[in-house]
Amino acid sequence: MTSAPEPAHGEERWLTLAAVNTLVSGTFGSSDRVTDETALAAWVREHVPPAMPASAVRASREEFAAVCTAARELLSAIGMGAPLPAAALRRVNRAAAHPMHPAVNAARELQLTPARPVSPVAMLAADAVRLIASGDASRVRTCAAVDCDRMFLQDHRRRIWCSARCGTRMRARRRAARLRSQVAVPAQRRP
Ligand SMILES: [Zn+2]
Repeated sequence: MTSAPEPAHGEERWLTLAAVNTLVSGTFGSSDRVTDETALAAWVREHVPPAMPASAVRASREEFAAVCTAARELLSAIGMGAPLPAAALRRVNRAAAHPMHPAVNAARELQLTPARPVSPVAMLAADAVRLIASGDASRVRTCAAVDCDRMFLQDHRRRIWCSARCGTRMRARRRAARLRSQVAVPAQRRP
């Protein structure tokens, strides 16, 4: 069993990146972190504000995975300069839609309160909507490590790894490959 990887760059700023990275397929990724409702409830407790009512913490894993997949498709399209896939856009927008209850007080101020507790999936979708509409979306990259496809926010141009851990382990792997080739070449030259 692997320990939870360190968060990818940008996960602290965008809930969407943290969510998308629970579903990656790379061996270093965290592909099995949110496999069922219990794991999802634990993830939600870790990532959404503690003030959220307990009833709202329950979330459907299918809905969560669908929003994550759609967000990843949209971010990948933005990264490639491709048009946004319409179905993914609809999925995220629909999940973010949340009925608000309008009320007016004696001072004639408009007050909008959620008509029901906002679910973690709606919260995630709202974060994805904000991320996609922001300048950060075009700086989201996929990790350059061969066995990691986590997404991260490229906050400077030379950053190509999702985390320091991926950078360290890939550099070590390259060093080992270089050493192996240095040892292998003289051996091949023997008559
Ligand atoms: Zn990585």
